[in-house]
Amino acid sequence: MNPKKIITPKQLQSHIDKLPRINIAHLPTPLEEMPRLTERLGGPNIWIKREDMTGLAYGGNKARHYEFEMPHVSEAGYDVMINIMDYHSNNARMTAAAANKVGMRYILVLKNSATRKIQGNLLVDKILGAELHLLDEFQSSTAHEYATQLKKDLEKEGHTPYLIQDHLFPRIVGMVGFVQAGIELKEQIEQAKLNNVHIIGVAGRSLCGLIIAAKAMGLDWKFTGVTVNYDVPLKGYIFEHNKDIQNLLDLPVTFEEADMRVLDQYVGEGYGLMTPQVAEAIHIAAQTDAIICDPNYTGTAMAALIEQVENGGFNDNETVIFLHTGGLPALFTFAEQLANFNAKI
Ligand SMILES: *Cc1c(COP(=O)(O)O)cnc(C)c1O
Repeated sequence: MNPKKIITPKQLQSHIDKLPRINIAHLPTPLEEMPRLTERLGGPNIWIKREDMTGLAYGGNKARHYEFEMPHVSEAGYDVMINIMDYHSNNARMTAAAANKVGMRYILVLKNSATRKIQGNLLVDKILGAELHLLDEFQSSTAHEYATQLKKDLEKEGHTPYLIQDHLFPRIVGMVGFVQAGIELKEQIEQAKLNNVHIIGVAGRSLCGLIIAAKAMGLDWKFTGVTVNYDVPLKGYIFEHNKDIQNLLDLPVTFEEADMRVLDQYVGEGYGLMTPQVAEAIHIAAQTDAIICDPNYTGTAMAALIEQVENGGFNDNETVIFLHTGGLPALFTFAEQLANFNAKI
């Protein structure tokens, strides 16, 4: 990399500090060793960055996102947020929590939810006071039309509603939370004296935020993104908005497709459908270093980490850092499948 383009952590911080922010995440999150998983797999040293511990209503990566995304919305004058998500969505829950923090009214249109048990994220959504619209499978195919009608009705009542799915740019704004996380992680990595850092996690905005931070500060971290079924696609959305975040932060560099090794083979059959390999990985992480992963996102990333270590997908001299992005309430939505799963630990 051109050394002229490298900026110091302090300089990067000053770029971030120009943006409006609310403090709703417990930071810094810990960076910890996973000695028992490392021993079990017999490969490189494995560490974990605990974004599951951001605190806000059971935590997860979106607490960092909303530190920047929420002021972006409220300062634009919106007074009610509408979100369309699936019944077990972490995003649905974290948005409810962040909305409460700033006193924003929140309407949640949940697909495939009408006949579900009130459990996991859905239970937390309800307790947080999200105004729930539970759609059945038939209605779900027209969820966007449904939400648009709600929006029109609110406008007639004099509100200024914000339908999240119609404004993709703020979701990129949320990525700034993970540029911030990159500064935090750099300090922790130096303190722990880790070398040849290779970060693995769900392929999405969070990893891209870390990539920007690493490139801006001239760090040699490597990145592996694990594809999960998720409504924010890498190609055609995240990678196409790399200049937007660069402009927003006024940085000399941004992330590119080539900065991330993407693994597509763990994606399974669909959003919310847990593969046996993911169920197995959830048990392995829990029964080694007592780390709980979720059935959609972090369980899939953990399954990838385990298989990649076993198959030589990392060099032995690397320090593998697992980015735990949260999602814990979703575990309880899959109670039956997990309880009936026979883990061969
Ligand atoms: C939303 C979510 C992700 C993906 O988020 P990005 O910001 O796109 O990286 C990953 N893991 C969990 C648990 C999530 O809820």
